[in-house]
Amino acid sequence: MLDLLILGAGPAGLTAAIYAARSQLHTLVLEKETAGGQIALTGQVDNYPGLPGVQGLVLAERLRRHAEQLGASFRAAEAVRLEDCGAYKKTMLADGECLPARSVIAATGAAPRLLGVPGEEQLRGSGVSYCAMCDGAFYRGKRVCVIGGGDTAVEDALLLARQAAEVVLIHRRDRLRAQKAHAAQLLGLENVSVRWNTVVTEICGDGAVSGVRLRALPDGNAELLPVDGVFIAVGMQPETACLEPLGVVGEDGCVQAGEDCRTAVPGLFAAGDVRRKPVRQVVTAAADGASAVRAAQSYLETL
Ligand code: NAP
Repeated sequence: MLDLLILGAGPAGLTAAIYAARSQLHTLVLEKETAGGQIALTGQVDNYPGLPGVQGLVLAERLRRHAEQLGASFRAAEAVRLEDCGAYKKTMLADGECLPARSVIAATGAAPRLLGVPGEEQLRGSGVSYCAMCDGAFYRGKRVCVIGGGDTAVEDALLLARQAAEVVLIHRRDRLRAQKAHAAQLLGLENVSVRWNTVVTEICGDGAVSGVRLRALPDGNAELLPVDGVFIAVGMQPETACLEPLGVVGEDGCVQAGEDCRTAVPGLFAAGDVRRKPVRQVVTAAADGASAVRAAQSYLETL
């Protein structure tokens, strides 16, 4: 029986693995895809203390290697369902296997939120993307749009502006919520323009994206903007499907857990972007990983 099962190998899960290994807990980390979670798909991370300008992928690899060097065990698998059996939790994997563990840290992170307009699903992968880092290179010399006004949208637009001929940022409000320094940098670029107070009502194209239909919010004016690619950056949706049966997911889609990462289910902890929290950053995810292991240790001592 495992002392601790960690679901997810992003900064929260990997930090939890480091702390659990140092505490000599019998631990296994499940990684659904590659290690690092969202940071593996990020360019530079400029605000992780002590590592200015580190590449997301490099940071992800360093975190994983650190956990491995301390003896953490990893397995490539996806948890699809968790059951609370009192003194232990049962975790069902996508391949049908069931893993029992005395405690579980859900560090499953978040996935890009869908825009929910006609054409989005049909043209996904044919001009509709949620990852500028992954797909930006396909649009060298072309015209693309980015939808959103947060840090992801601004970072995506900055990245795309180095590759595409023209980038149009489309935002539903009249100001960006992204960090001011990045926003100022973006707004100063010659090949970037912004459509303020504008929403996308449809993504058009027959087999590949050819444009987006826009609606200006003040007057309702409609317009067809021709683009070759659409990058959607309208926030993240916590990955909580496997936790649904436990009733710990709130109406906002986040797991409800305090700063100590304890959920309402004894022995289940939530760390990183899956948890309701005001600041979603690598550094806060890593901090959650440490707090969750501390709380899990206290819980295990009561068994
Ligand atoms: P976010 O901060 O939630 O921003 C989402 C943006 O999309 C907002 O501007 C929002 O508009 C807009 N939006 C939401 N739903 C929409 C819809 N249906 N139609 C049109 N626009 C819509 O999400 P994020 O940018 O992915 O960032 C998530 C978290 O990660 C944030 O805490 C962010 O600071 C952090 N992050 C940090 C970095 C970094 O520090 N390097 C990089 C990336 C992300 P409104 O403004 O009107 O709400």
